[in-house]
Amino acid sequence: MEEHIESLQKLQTVDLIIRELTEGLEKYPNEIDNLKNDLREKEKSIELQEVSLSELKTQRDNLESSIRSNQDSIKKSEERLFSIKTHKEYEALQKEITDTRKENREIEDRTISVMAEIEETEATLAEKKENYSTLAEQYAQQIAEKEKKIEELEISREPAEKEKSKILSNIDPKILPLYERIFKRNGRALALAKNEKCTSCNINIPPQLYNEILKRVKLVQCPNCKKILYTSS
Ligand SMILES: [Zn+2]
Repeated sequence: MEEHIESLQKLQTVDLIIRELTEGLEKYPNEIDNLKNDLREKEKSIELQEVSLSELKTQRDNLESSIRSNQDSIKKSEERLFSIKTHKEYEALQKEITDTRKENREIEDRTISVMAEIEETEATLAEKKENYSTLAEQYAQQIAEKEKKIEELEISREPAEKEKSKILSNIDPKILPLYERIFKRNGRALALAKNEKCTSCNINIPPQLYNEILKRVKLVQCPNCKKILYTSS
């Protein structure tokens, strides 16, 4: 029985190591993915803003070209004024010129507000890009550290698995399912019994049961947390 307990203790030690390795091998790749996704989202947001900046610039160019074409038409109309014969025609052309001037003032106002928007967008974009490059640098470092950890975990995994199969070959197959069930359910399968108490769940162990643990004639489970109890002596 003592051998059983010793082997199970060894098994638990290596199982705890393997579990830590497995958890790390799941955790770090996820964390790396999260960092990469975060960067991609920030890239996308920069790209979107670049698109809206270029739309604003197109809008500004179109407005400016309308202003120029209106200015041309005003100039031509003003020249035509000299060659007009009737008062009615003259007035009509004068009105056209006034209307076009008015329209141009409105377009100029719109151009000014678009240009302000361009300036604002450029400032935000510059800030975003700067934050992005700082973040990208930090993330690259974090990713490299995590990749190194993954590598280390992978290196440790094989010897741990080998060690486990070596221990398993020394364990009575009849007691293994009990151990595995408790380990899976409770995170640990063994608990130290000390001063007539289970050190895992802290309940008092009935004296008769405690004696059985001390005698080491059979595996004894804690009546409360069901872990296999052992004594240190
Ligand atoms: Zn217990």
